Amino acid sequence: VQPEALKEFLHRRHLRLTAERLAVLQAFVSAKKMLTPHELHALVADANVGLTTVYRVLELLTKHRCAQPFLVEGEVRYAFCSEEHHHHFICLSCHAVAEIFDCPEPVAADLPQGQVQYHALDFYGRCSACLEGGSPC
Ligand SMILES: [Zn+2]
Ligand SMILES: [Zn+2]
Ligand SMILES: [Zn+2]
Repeated sequence: VQPEALKEFLHRRHLRLTAERLAVLQAFVSAKKMLTPHELHALVADANVGLTTVYRVLELLTKHRCAQPFLVEGEVRYAFCSEEHHHHFICLSCHAVAEIFDCPEPVAADLPQGQVQYHALDFYGRCSACLEGGSPC
Protein backbone atom coordinates (compact mmCIF):
# COMPACT_ATOMS: atom_id res chain seq x y z
CA VAL A 1 0.00 0.00 0.00
CA GLN A 2 1.31 3.41 -0.96
CA PRO A 3 1.65 6.12 1.70
CA GLU A 4 -0.57 8.35 -0.46
CA ALA A 5 -3.37 5.80 -0.34
CA LEU A 6 -3.09 5.61 3.44
CA LYS A 7 -3.18 9.39 3.78
CA GLU A 8 -6.26 9.46 1.62
CA PHE A 9 -7.72 6.67 3.74
CA LEU A 10 -7.29 8.69 6.97
CA HIS A 11 -8.47 11.87 5.32
CA ARG A 12 -11.69 10.38 3.97
CA ARG A 13 -12.57 9.20 7.48
CA HIS A 14 -11.74 12.58 8.99
CA LEU A 15 -8.98 11.04 11.06
CA ARG A 16 -6.20 13.39 12.03
CA LEU A 17 -3.07 12.50 10.14
CA THR A 18 0.08 12.20 12.18
CA ALA A 19 3.40 10.56 11.29
CA GLU A 20 2.82 8.07 14.12
CA ARG A 21 -0.63 7.07 12.90
CA LEU A 22 0.65 6.70 9.37
CA ALA A 23 3.50 4.46 10.54
CA VAL A 24 1.08 2.24 12.49
CA LEU A 25 -1.35 2.04 9.58
CA GLN A 26 1.40 1.27 7.10
CA ALA A 27 2.78 -1.55 9.27
CA PHE A 28 -0.70 -2.91 9.95
CA VAL A 29 -1.77 -2.98 6.30
CA SER A 30 1.45 -4.51 5.01
CA ALA A 31 1.53 -7.23 7.68
CA LYS A 32 -1.28 -9.13 5.89
CA LYS A 33 -1.94 -11.04 9.09
CA MET A 34 -3.76 -10.50 12.34
CA LEU A 35 -1.66 -8.93 15.04
CA THR A 36 -1.91 -8.32 18.75
CA PRO A 37 -1.44 -4.66 19.70
CA HIS A 38 1.96 -5.60 21.14
CA GLU A 39 3.07 -7.29 17.90
CA LEU A 40 2.00 -4.23 15.93
CA HIS A 41 3.82 -2.02 18.41
CA ALA A 42 7.00 -4.07 17.89
CA LEU A 43 6.73 -3.49 14.12
CA VAL A 44 6.80 0.28 14.59
CA ALA A 45 9.44 0.33 17.33
CA ASP A 46 11.87 2.09 14.97
CA ALA A 47 9.37 4.89 14.37
CA ASN A 48 9.23 5.67 18.09
CA VAL A 49 5.49 5.10 18.34
CA GLY A 50 3.95 4.57 21.76
CA LEU A 51 1.73 1.62 22.60
CA THR A 52 -1.09 4.06 23.41
CA THR A 53 -1.00 5.31 19.81
CA VAL A 54 -1.17 1.74 18.53
CA TYR A 55 -4.25 1.06 20.65
CA ARG A 56 -5.82 4.34 19.55
CA VAL A 57 -5.31 3.60 15.84
CA LEU A 58 -6.74 0.09 16.24
CA GLU A 59 -9.72 1.54 18.10
CA LEU A 60 -10.35 4.13 15.38
CA LEU A 61 -10.01 1.60 12.58
CA THR A 62 -12.35 -0.82 14.36
CA LYS A 63 -14.91 1.95 14.86
CA HIS A 64 -14.77 2.70 11.13
CA ARG A 65 -15.03 -1.03 10.34
CA CYS A 66 -11.58 -0.99 8.75
CA ALA A 67 -10.23 -3.42 11.28
CA GLN A 68 -11.77 -6.31 13.08
CA PRO A 69 -10.77 -7.85 16.39
CA PHE A 70 -10.73 -11.62 16.67
CA LEU A 71 -10.34 -13.75 19.75
CA VAL A 72 -7.79 -16.40 18.81
CA GLU A 73 -6.70 -18.82 21.49
CA GLY A 74 -7.43 -16.33 24.25
CA GLU A 75 -5.68 -13.37 22.59
CA VAL A 76 -7.28 -10.44 20.84
CA ARG A 77 -5.78 -10.02 17.38
CA TYR A 78 -6.69 -7.36 14.84
CA ALA A 79 -6.97 -7.79 11.09
CA PHE A 80 -7.10 -4.95 8.58
CA CYS A 81 -10.31 -5.11 6.53
CA SER A 82 -11.04 -3.83 3.07
CA GLU A 83 -14.25 -1.91 2.51
CA GLU A 84 -16.15 -4.46 0.46
CA HIS A 85 -18.21 -7.01 2.43
CA HIS A 86 -16.15 -10.11 3.05
CA HIS A 87 -15.49 -13.09 5.25
CA HIS A 88 -12.16 -14.34 6.56
CA PHE A 89 -9.98 -17.37 6.38
CA ILE A 90 -7.56 -17.30 9.29
CA CYS A 91 -4.48 -19.49 9.65
CA LEU A 92 -4.09 -20.68 13.22
CA SER A 93 -0.39 -21.37 12.68
CA CYS A 94 0.90 -18.08 11.22
CA HIS A 95 -2.22 -15.87 11.69
CA ALA A 96 -2.33 -14.99 8.00
CA VAL A 97 -5.70 -13.56 7.01
CA ALA A 98 -7.32 -14.01 3.62
CA GLU A 99 -10.48 -12.12 2.72
CA ILE A 100 -13.21 -14.16 1.09
CA PHE A 101 -15.56 -12.15 -1.07
CA ASP A 102 -17.97 -15.00 -1.76
CA CYS A 103 -20.88 -14.45 0.57
CA PRO A 104 -23.16 -17.40 1.32
CA GLU A 105 -25.91 -14.89 2.25
CA PRO A 106 -26.99 -16.94 5.22
CA VAL A 107 -30.59 -17.56 6.19
CA ALA A 108 -33.23 -14.89 6.49
CA ALA A 109 -32.74 -11.16 6.87
CA ASP A 110 -35.63 -11.06 9.30
CA LEU A 111 -35.75 -13.30 12.30
CA PRO A 112 -38.42 -13.55 14.99
CA GLN A 113 -35.86 -12.06 17.36
CA GLY A 114 -35.39 -8.92 15.27
CA GLN A 115 -33.87 -7.66 12.04
CA VAL A 116 -30.37 -8.55 10.89
CA GLN A 117 -28.19 -5.58 9.98
CA TYR A 118 -24.95 -7.38 9.24
CA HIS A 119 -23.33 -10.74 9.69
CA ALA A 120 -19.87 -12.18 10.19
CA LEU A 121 -18.60 -15.58 9.14
CA ASP A 122 -15.01 -16.66 9.56
CA PHE A 123 -13.11 -19.83 8.82
CA TYR A 124 -10.15 -21.02 10.84
CA GLY A 125 -7.54 -23.53 9.74
CA ARG A 126 -4.06 -23.70 8.24
CA CYS A 127 -3.03 -21.73 5.18
CA SER A 128 -1.49 -23.46 2.16
CA ALA A 129 1.98 -22.06 2.98
CA CYS A 130 1.82 -23.62 6.45
CA LEU A 131 0.45 -26.91 5.06
CA GLU A 132 3.26 -27.11 2.49
CA GLY A 133 5.93 -26.06 4.93
CA GLY A 134 4.69 -28.65 7.39
CA SER A 135 5.58 -26.34 10.25
CA PRO A 136 4.46 -27.65 13.61
CA CYS A 137 1.38 -25.94 15.06
ZN1 LIG B 1 -11.72 -8.29 7.07
ZN1 LIG C 1 -0.28 -20.12 7.89
ZN1 LIG D 1 -21.40 -12.27 3.95
